Amino acid sequence: MFSIQHDIDLGSHTTFGCPARAKHAAVVTNIQDLQEAVAFAGDMGLAIRVLGGGSNVLLTGNVPDLVIINQLHQRAECVDGRDVHIRFGSGENWHDAVTWTVGNGWSGMENLALIPGTVGAAPMQNIGAYGVEQASIFEELEAFNFETGEIRKFTAADCDFGYRVSVFKRELRDKVMITSVTYRLSLDPKLVTSYRDVQEELATMSVTTPTTLDIYNAVVRVRTRKLPDPRMIGNAGSFFMNPVITQEQASALLERYPAMPTYPQSDGTVKVAAGWLIEQCGWKGARHGGCGVHDRQALVLVNHGGAVGSEVLELSRKIQQSVADTFGITLVREVNVW
Ligand code: FAD
Ligand code: NAP
Repeated sequence: MFSIQHDIDLGSHTTFGCPARAKHAAVVTNIQDLQEAVAFAGDMGLAIRVLGGGSNVLLTGNVPDLVIINQLHQRAECVDGRDVHIRFGSGENWHDAVTWTVGNGWSGMENLALIPGTVGAAPMQNIGAYGVEQASIFEELEAFNFETGEIRKFTAADCDFGYRVSVFKRELRDKVMITSVTYRLSLDPKLVTSYRDVQEELATMSVTTPTTLDIYNAVVRVRTRKLPDPRMIGNAGSFFMNPVITQEQASALLERYPAMPTYPQSDGTVKVAAGWLIEQCGWKGARHGGCGVHDRQALVLVNHGGAVGSEVLELSRKIQQSVADTFGITLVREVNVW
């Protein structure tokens, strides 16, 4: 039965695990729960925040707002010729959703295996990995507007997806809750194997003509080996976005740092690997109080135990400063700070 809870622990709802409490929280399992929760916030004059799997949130203090904990579950598929349209409730676990689609022989989500969190948060930063973004399979979503109480459909154009960004991370941040997302998958695989790690893993698996399942397995194997498991060590994945700079800036930097990994974009800009920049500044494996920089992937900040959000933020600012001083590049935070 639906109820508003008070003074609840939030830290255990996030993968970073920094301590904080929410003054009010509501676990919503259907739209009626959501309407009741939003009405409560309206009556009390509270702001609203939505929490999915908590894998992209850093808690830096107690939250005085109403936190909605998303448990909207649904999976409904419709096969139309060679296309498969799947509508997910936004509280579905992302990796479980990917595993289910691959198990059914539907292609499109395989490169995005093992990303923590919920389906509803995926459009928020247009999640991406190994050369694929969720935008490439996105069909439409529905979102509940806290101010008007209306549920509105959003097309891909409405979402304005970019590199780890969308309208939900900008103008509509904390103003709507995504309630369902529909993806269009295919019975005809269009496999993306451009990333070296995926290619090397397929070779290790002795796969020469990969299937959707092979790509899924390769991604799971690489990620399990390379990335820190939040169940073992608290983290929120990449703390910063990879910066995108002009061709002129990239050329000037490459003269001084010929080993700098750069990836030309279709619009003429150049993506630079933020992890490499941070590593060159000597931060890989560094410690700062209870937190630090991961010793295998410098883009990931970790909680070694007992870290508080403010010290993670402090460490992140020091990193931003030294990357700016060394390379003249501003690192922008990817993680959402509460
Ligand atoms: P949360 O952390 O709960 O929320 C993130 C933000 O989205 C918050 O601002 C929240 O208010 C908002 N939000 C959540 N749900 C909704 C909703 N239904 N409606 C509106 N707003 C909402 N990201 C990638 O892009 N690629 C990766 O490969 C990747 N790998 C990762 C690996 C690890 C080990 C970790 C810890 C994280 C990784 N991430 C990656 C980041 C993270 O998993 C994604 O951003 C994920 O989509 C967050 O989902 P979540 O449900 O945990 O969101
Ligand atoms: P990686 O493969 O070591 O690559 C380092 C960086 O270089 C990545 O950030 C990636 O950019 C870029 N890159 C590598 N090969 C590329 C290619 N062929 N074309 C274009 N760009 C290329 O990275 P990793 O840390 O092991 O992560 C693997 C994948 O998982 C990446 O796509 C990464 O984004 C994703 N990931 C994301 C998070 C997160 O929290 N956001 C956390 C873990 C992993 P891109 O990041 O743009 O792909």
